[in-house]
Amino acid sequence: LSAAKTQNHWDLIIVGGGLSGGLLAWRLSERHPSLRVLLVERADRLGGNHTWSFHEHDVQAPILEWLAPLVSGSWQGYDVHFPAYERVFSSEYFSIRSDSFHQFVASKLGARVWFQISVRSLSETEVELETGERLHAGAVIDARGLKREELLEDRVGYQKFVGLDLQLAEPHGLRRPLLMDTRLDQSDGYRFMYLIPWGERTLLAEDTYYNESPKLDVPVVREEIARYLRGRGWTIELVHREEVGCLAIPMYARFLKPELQREPGLRIGMRGGFFHPVTGYSLPEAARFAWFLAELKEFSPSSIRKALDQYARETEASRSYGRLLNRMLFRASEAAARVGIFQKFYRHSEGLIRRFYAGRLTWMDRVKILSGKPPVAIRRAIPCFVDREKFWEGNT
Ligand SMILES: Cc1cc2nc3c(=O)[nH]c(=O)nc-3n(C[C@H](O)[C@H](O)[C@H](O)COP(=O)(O)OP(=O)(O)OC[C@H]3O[C@@H](n4cnc5c(N)ncnc54)[C@H](O)[C@@H]3O)c2cc1C
Repeated sequence: LSAAKTQNHWDLIIVGGGLSGGLLAWRLSERHPSLRVLLVERADRLGGNHTWSFHEHDVQAPILEWLAPLVSGSWQGYDVHFPAYERVFSSEYFSIRSDSFHQFVASKLGARVWFQISVRSLSETEVELETGERLHAGAVIDARGLKREELLEDRVGYQKFVGLDLQLAEPHGLRRPLLMDTRLDQSDGYRFMYLIPWGERTLLAEDTYYNESPKLDVPVVREEIARYLRGRGWTIELVHREEVGCLAIPMYARFLKPELQREPGLRIGMRGGFFHPVTGYSLPEAARFAWFLAELKEFSPSSIRKALDQYARETEASRSYGRLLNRMLFRASEAAARVGIFQKFYRHSEGLIRRFYAGRLTWMDRVKILSGKPPVAIRRAIPCFVDREKFWEGNT
């Protein structure tokens, strides 16, 4: 480590400069400027290679305003296309590209970020680097993200996708994002194409699959995207960037391998299980959590653990309902019939759908979603209702 890095005690070390670690470090730098915070990232940039999208109502107005400098694109409304209907929703939709995340957050944090430093292990007060050196802090937060190998495979489904940032030979004519175009082969589970129009001829096109296997044949999916675009009369001129994701869609509260559950550390972000259980998305939750934690008066391991526990308990009802929907999807319905579940869901009122994305469904909403003739086998649906586990028991 360079001489500039010889200080060896911080109030707080955050390990992992991805979405949750970066947002938390930025929020803390604003709320507690004198707190000595260090963000340690193994890559040479913050945020990896992602496009993070979210809806206007996913976070409260002050948080939305706070996120504004990161936003790479925003649109009034979005579309969904199902076999039986098309629908336009009116709420605003936002996307953040990780390059703008990196530029903005890194400039805010300055010397408080260390790049290209890989952490071997950590405890609540100590970090061991791959070089063998040790760093000490009042508290250490683990924001290293989740790896597929850390999941209990029979307790999760997956949302997998390949996204291509493209330039087309002709204007695409899209005025707003197309969140789901499901008019595709559905035999392998719920599948949709996702389009974000950046400019007249540029867009992000993502082919997404929801099923029980984490496998994704990237070259085949790339070709599927090209085929879909050709079908719409568009020619790819240039591929600027590619992103690949495989997100856990938990069916049960305990979905992390016991080794990870037993690991010491104060886990946040995906690693703490803090993401929308049905979509696998975590941007709104990472922003809300950064605001929540930054309200602490002191940052000892015990006060952070208490806050994590409180946050997990307060959000459990919504998480538990999401896991029920996931069990219905993966356990009670045939792969090819799953599109029917989403087709039925997107007929609900815009208010209900907003609350669903925001993780704020009312009891009435929950009843409405499950009422009517379900596109699932009743015999297989009934056992799905049984789940005695609590999220905080397994993960925090
Ligand atoms: C391609 C893709 C697109 C997505 N799109 C969306 C979206 O549109 N909307 C949304 O809400 N969610 C989206 N998600 C889901 C989720 O929001 C992201 O995965 C998000 O980045 C998770 O945040 P995180 O902070 O938990 O983990 P990450 O952002 O993955 O951050 C973990 C960080 O820790 C670092 N790290 C790991 N190990 C070490 C180590 N040993 N030492 C030092 N550093 C380490 C990594 O380099 C990384 O920077 C997407 C996910 C992917 C993969």
